[in-house]
Amino acid sequence: MGKPTGFMEFPRKSAPVRDALVRLGDWYEIYEAADEKTLKQQSARCMDCGVPFCHSETGCPIDNLIPEFNELVYQNRWEEAFERLSRTNNFPEFTGRVCPAPCESACVLGIHSPPVTIKSIECAIIDRAFEEGWLAAKAPAKRTGKKVAVIGSGPAGLAAADQLNKAGHSVTVFERDDRIGGLLMYGIPNMKLDKRLVQRRVDLLAAEGVVFKPNHNIGGDASDQGEGGTAKTVAPETLLRDFDAVILATGALKARMLDLPGKELSGIHRAMEYLHQNTRSLLDSGLSDGRFINAKDKHVVIIGGGDTGTDCIATALRHGAKSVTNITRREQEPAERDQWHAWPGEAGTYYIDYGHAEGIAKNGRDPREYGVQPLEFVGKDGRLAGIKISRLKWTTDAATGKQTSTAIPGSEEVLPADLLLLSAGFTGSDTPALFKSLGVATDRNGLSTAPYGDYQTNVPKVFAAGDSRRGASLVVWGIAEGRGAARAVDAFLTGSSTLPAPDMAGQLSSAG
Ligand SMILES: Cc1cc2nc3c(=O)[nH]c(=O)nc-3n(C[C@H](O)[C@H](O)[C@H](O)COP(=O)(O)OP(=O)(O)OC[C@H]3O[C@@H](n4cnc5c(N)ncnc54)[C@H](O)[C@@H]3O)c2cc1C
Ligand code: SF4
Repeated sequence: MGKPTGFMEFPRKSAPVRDALVRLGDWYEIYEAADEKTLKQQSARCMDCGVPFCHSETGCPIDNLIPEFNELVYQNRWEEAFERLSRTNNFPEFTGRVCPAPCESACVLGIHSPPVTIKSIECAIIDRAFEEGWLAAKAPAKRTGKKVAVIGSGPAGLAAADQLNKAGHSVTVFERDDRIGGLLMYGIPNMKLDKRLVQRRVDLLAAEGVVFKPNHNIGGDASDQGEGGTAKTVAPETLLRDFDAVILATGALKARMLDLPGKELSGIHRAMEYLHQNTRSLLDSGLSDGRFINAKDKHVVIIGGGDTGTDCIATALRHGAKSVTNITRREQEPAERDQWHAWPGEAGTYYIDYGHAEGIAKNGRDPREYGVQPLEFVGKDGRLAGIKISRLKWTTDAATGKQTSTAIPGSEEVLPADLLLLSAGFTGSDTPALFKSLGVATDRNGLSTAPYGDYQTNVPKVFAAGDSRRGASLVVWGIAEGRGAARAVDAFLTGSSTLPAPDMAGQLSSAG
């Protein structure tokens, strides 16, 4: 433990962010660098618990060695902290920025005080490591002669590629988009994760020997081109022929659509269409090519919350929307954990994320409206003009926690909307042709049924990881599954594996 009394002396101080009104004027990251004294004090709040719930089952999915790196930061031993972090996390610069930090929800300090700022300490360690040049490219000393194809370049595909390359296998990553990174590149917007950081990591992996093939749609048909639509189609059989193992890391990008009257009106888009086009245009031309859905001067309504909804809010505000409203059927979360969200599980409390803070700063109100049931898209001359909604009243069964909603009579109204963004979640894989042509077994959502921890599909030498196996999830789970699948593939190729993977924390820690 860095400082036995740290948790009593120092209050939690979250990572600093730029002023909401200032950052609305650009697309740069919202974060500011934390000063070293604050980071030291924050790391001193860690109690080095005998049972560190932060990396328990409900905590960090990749088993980050949290108390160890906290202590090392407190002792100013940053390079060792970086080394410790690298044992479990391939990409802390991503999780340090975008992870919802289940480790913090599970932190023991959180029982009676705000938890340790684990995520911002992690981010500071990796940012410093890049600044200091501790991440020079290291190609493996020896190649095994085995070849692995990874389909999909999100966090799952990239983590698997990194691990297998380290083990000496020759890895090629195929991606249907024009840029590598999956949702790190084209889902999460630049202000939450700077695309230069994604590219920096991709360049590092390439310098270490991973081969990247963007614009390659494996097994896709005409309807399966992702948001880009220009990729060259490659028959999956060629991968089975040319590679010793194949990993499917194709995500779960099939958006849930709303079957409401008026759904054919122009002005209704999937959130991913909106976010993908915006980032691509931003990177291609600083938005000067106009090849994106522009919310400027429009009344924007976003259906569905979560990270995607928040990212749509923040993007629409930057476009200069006339109004931005994010509607969700759910009721507003409580300010404190309720009995259904007991520690160390997810807190489930009301939380103001960056997009909400920006909406409040600009328009004086939280863009979210809870308990709203969409009923119908209202149009004029084939174009969307509004959305008819009713308000819901939620009740919770005291014994079971089950929630039910009823429409409030007479609450119907039409909200003005020129642009409607559907962010109602993802239902499964959007690349069924690939799974079908390989003969890979799927569930009813088109996701691989390969078991967790094994990752082997029903087809010999074909493995699956990340959202394409577990359903829409988190970046940290993508990394966890990529690491697990890499270990499984390595064992398949060589008979055994020493590659580290989640659920092996005891073997990774240097603490006795
Ligand atoms: C808008 C948005 C915001 C999010 N924000 C957060 C956040 O803040 N924090 C967080 O932890 N999680 C967030 N998530 C979730 C997180 O991004 C995903 O869980 C994670 O990226 C999944 O990783 P993956 O590698 O399994 O798949 P993905 O990142 O989805 O990558 C899959 C890749 O496979 C490619 N592909 C698919 N089919 C083919 C094919 N046939 N041939 C070639 N390539 C193919 C796709 O183009 C894609 O690039 C967000 C998701 C969205 C949509
Ligand atoms: S649970 Fe919290 S206080 Fe305990 S070791 Fe983990 S980070 Fe430190």
